[in-house]
Amino acid sequence: MSDEPAGTVALADTVSDLMYGIAGWMLVGLGVLGIVSVVGTAMGDPTNSDVIAIPILLLFSLLSITFGVFVNPPFRRRLNRRQTITRFGRVRSVDRRVLHAVEGRSEPCVECSTRMTEGMIRRYREEFVVAGVPVYTLSEGKNHYCPDCALSDSAHNADQQSRAAEPATERS
Ligand SMILES: [Zn+2]
Repeated sequence: MSDEPAGTVALADTVSDLMYGIAGWMLVGLGVLGIVSVVGTAMGDPTNSDVIAIPILLLFSLLSITFGVFVNPPFRRRLNRRQTITRFGRVRSVDRRVLHAVEGRSEPCVECSTRMTEGMIRRYREEFVVAGVPVYTLSEGKNHYCPDCALSDSAHNADQQSRAAEPATERS
């Protein structure tokens, strides 16, 4: 592991994602156990106190599952990418970020094939969206651009093309 700030931050993010992921799945597991015990009690011979306990336990189990799903980092990332609530079906999206030399990666530029350690990463996704929330990723890919090509029109044109290919992007 390097002592570079970028590496440390990435590690801290990974650890925090892992912790939230574990906490999330534990809550989901707890909720599922609760529902299983509710079903078990209801299928058996519920006593009067069970009849009161069953709806309460069921409510807590559902809350636990809901909360567990929401604290899960992959799901939170999906929520962060959510569209307007009226969106259903395939949605294409593009996001870009800068590739820094400190990341120690070497990628070929899609335009000129030069290997570079600094430039731009353009990520495109095609997702299936239900009520604005991406539920399934249909395709995902990354293109790398060297600084020269990133500044030229090619990367910009690629964005325009993906938008043109997706007429549903316009609100109707
Ligand atoms: Zn290039």
